[in-house]
Amino acid sequence: MHQLKKHLSEEQIAQCADLLQERREIPTNLQQHLDVCSSCKYELMSVMELSSSNIKVISFRARKGWMLGAAALILILVGTALYFNLQEKKTVEAPQMVQQQSIKLENQTETEEKQQAIPTDTMDVAVQSDQLALFVPNPQFEQLVDRFKDQMRSDIKIRQIEMQVNSQQLKLTWQQSAPEDITFEVYDNSGILRKTLETKSPPLIIENLGLGLYYIKVMNADFDLLQCLKVKIE
Ligand SMILES: [Zn+2]
Repeated sequence: MHQLKKHLSEEQIAQCADLLQERREIPTNLQQHLDVCSSCKYELMSVMELSSSNIKVISFRARKGWMLGAAALILILVGTALYFNLQEKKTVEAPQMVQQQSIKLENQTETEEKQQAIPTDTMDVAVQSDQLALFVPNPQFEQLVDRFKDQMRSDIKIRQIEMQVNSQQLKLTWQQSAPEDITFEVYDNSGILRKTLETKSPPLIIENLGLGLYYIKVMNADFDLLQCLKVKIE
């Protein structure tokens, strides 16, 4: 936007006056000219002073440029004061608006918090979603489980592991050709190791697991993975 070379037209002055009175932005090219041209600035201010005094006839005349010497000079002085007054107001008003907005936001959060605090239903929903999270499958362990579901390894010495869930107790039974150290690692669905248990022969009872989805790695004495089991404690 380049600066206007000519002075502002009467229409442009009138437009600026209207915008200023509505506390709106003046188009940049006009503002740029006003910034450097005191003649147009004073003309604008005199128009504004007249139009703000509610005497439409005089305002009209002013727009038409009917200005008389002495009156014009007074108007120019008043106008200048008004102009700088307005500019000041403009800069002061902006932060106030921001403040009001942030107060509004604070009120909103307050009411939201109140709404959340009222019904116990909402808390139930929160607990429910927490519980749901306990049952979200873990992709890596799911792969392991799938792998051992289809694959019957010839060197597997323990077979047909059965799981019985009774309240929060898990009982594992299996067939075993000979006694051997077997390690069971119990992971929750976020992949955190919760328990490590060892036994030489069935059964194995795992207690105090709590609600959730668990994966159990079954390993021999050399820590070869023999099986990966999946169990829900509901
Ligand atoms: Zn000018």
